[in-house]
Amino acid sequence: MNSSMTKKSMPAQAEPFWRKGLENLTKREWESLCDGCGRCCLVKLEDEDTGEIHFTDIACKLFEAGSCRCANYAKRKSLVPDCVQLTPEAVRSLPWLPPSCAYKLVAEGKDLKWWHPLVSGRPETVHEAGISVRGRIGGFEDDVAFEDWPNHIKDWPARTPRPRKPNG
Ligand code: SF4
Ligand code: SF4
Repeated sequence: MNSSMTKKSMPAQAEPFWRKGLENLTKREWESLCDGCGRCCLVKLEDEDTGEIHFTDIACKLFEAGSCRCANYAKRKSLVPDCVQLTPEAVRSLPWLPPSCAYKLVAEGKDLKWWHPLVSGRPETVHEAGISVRGRIGGFEDDVAFEDWPNHIKDWPARTPRPRKPNG
């Protein structure tokens, strides 16, 4: 029997821009790739003996705990000289970049997760999924005594997060 159904051609979906690879992103695309998790804005401590880098739950002094964004992104380099400017080379070589970081995922040829704002269409999903540092900050670098920083060492920022289900 011949079918009377005809196949309708679907409109071609544009390939998400991040699949071009880090080197091929425009400045705007590059900036929008950040998921706003804030993990990279946590203070890190290096073990002098082993060189191992540990995350703490202490946030940079410019970090805004509510929005999980930098309070002065444009002037961050002058206000916080050791703030690391991410580049494709830096993404590939920094040993401490969190495994959920969108730049790291793209550098590894992986796709973005459902909770990334570019996929979900909503900046809140990175918080709703429990990926961001919102609600997990233990202090700010200017407020926590330096001697107390080792007591703030945490494993979770360097671990692959298990996202909470959407609406779950
Ligand atoms: S870890 Fe990556 S994705 Fe998260 S805030 Fe930092 S640069 Fe953005
Ligand atoms: S200066 Fe801004 S971007 Fe840099 S670590 Fe601090 S809060 Fe994050």
